[in-house]
Amino acid sequence: MDIALNDIPFHVVHLTGRERAYLDEVLATRGFGGNGKFTALCQDWLQTELGVSQAHLTPSCTDALEMAALLCDIGPGDEVIMPSYTYVSTANAFVLRGATPVFVDICPETLTLDPACVQAAVTPKTRAIVPVHYAGTACDMDALGRIASAHGLWLIEDAAHALLSRTPQGRYLGALGQVGCLSFHSTKNVTAGGGGALLVNDPGLLEKAQCIWHRGTDKAAFDNGEVSHYRWVAKGSAYQPGELMAAFLWAQLESARAITERRMQLHRRYLQGLAPLASKGLIRFPKGNDLTGNAHIVYVLAASRLQRDAWMGALASQGIHSAPHYVPLHSSPAGRKWGRTHGAMGVTDDTADCLLRLPLYPDLQYADVDRVVHVLRGQV
Ligand SMILES: *Cc1c(COP(=O)(O)O)cnc(C)c1O
Repeated sequence: MDIALNDIPFHVVHLTGRERAYLDEVLATRGFGGNGKFTALCQDWLQTELGVSQAHLTPSCTDALEMAALLCDIGPGDEVIMPSYTYVSTANAFVLRGATPVFVDICPETLTLDPACVQAAVTPKTRAIVPVHYAGTACDMDALGRIASAHGLWLIEDAAHALLSRTPQGRYLGALGQVGCLSFHSTKNVTAGGGGALLVNDPGLLEKAQCIWHRGTDKAAFDNGEVSHYRWVAKGSAYQPGELMAAFLWAQLESARAITERRMQLHRRYLQGLAPLASKGLIRFPKGNDLTGNAHIVYVLAASRLQRDAWMGALASQGIHSAPHYVPLHSSPAGRKWGRTHGAMGVTDDTADCLLRLPLYPDLQYADVDRVVHVLRGQV
């Protein structure tokens, strides 16, 4: 899409200014292979800041989800409960292992898994629940945790949106299930153009996760001098990113808290500006993540698809780029083929029709937010 001078793009990648220096360091030392200094810095940061036992950097969150499916030994005949309002990778990771995604509806307030729908979808074949913290808003992890323990299910968090988001009790998302997955895709809050991480919290999974990350070998034990040769010991794949990606990511993670704070300021500005419309019931917007979220997405919900598309058109006519989001997986061709739906999907279908994402990134100015708000106010 062409961007004119006064346009407000939907997304602009933020640079912290240290990316080049760290990339130069890798170039100078020629230490391009994975699992080097910058990988260690990123992994240590994630472990310390989020409070997880183990963090493995990956080339993408898609890879982290695939690792999670391997780690939890998901296989043919297994069922995995997840929202339909999510990215394809949430489901693909399990379909690749021969399992069946079971799509259930979301709560209208948070757009995250509705625990009652999850409970109703559990069968003897269910092996895991995959909550997606949409827009960085926490799922009801207490309720989902209770369902998971009652039925002996894995809780695998798709925390792709949720770096540094917390629960109302202050615990970091991605660090609550046995396994969590993060994304550093270029559209996410912190990015290396791609990248992801697998977070492991279950002590029983740590060694296996190491092996999967090392392409199915016990190379970690070899590196520690525990074995004289490293051998093929598990199913694994190429899940280690190179050091160039890790170096770029480290420049971003060092500023992750400042980036989040800036996004939260802009997010608050949007919510303040749109509050008069919300109080008249003309517009709905995210609840519950104004204090503990990470402002990954700011969205508004219109009363109908027609109205949403009209808002999008009005913004576009002023050079403001906005975007709907997911086509629900349960109505997608592959979702129909390999997945199953349990219960009504009214909130999911409504959200797909009515949700509109607005520009939100650190380099946006308050004046830009005010321009967006002004156009929306003129529309309702
Ligand atoms: C971005 C995203 C992914 C995939 O992340 P990649 O790093 O691009 O592979 C998975 N799940 C959700 C919910 C996402 O938004």
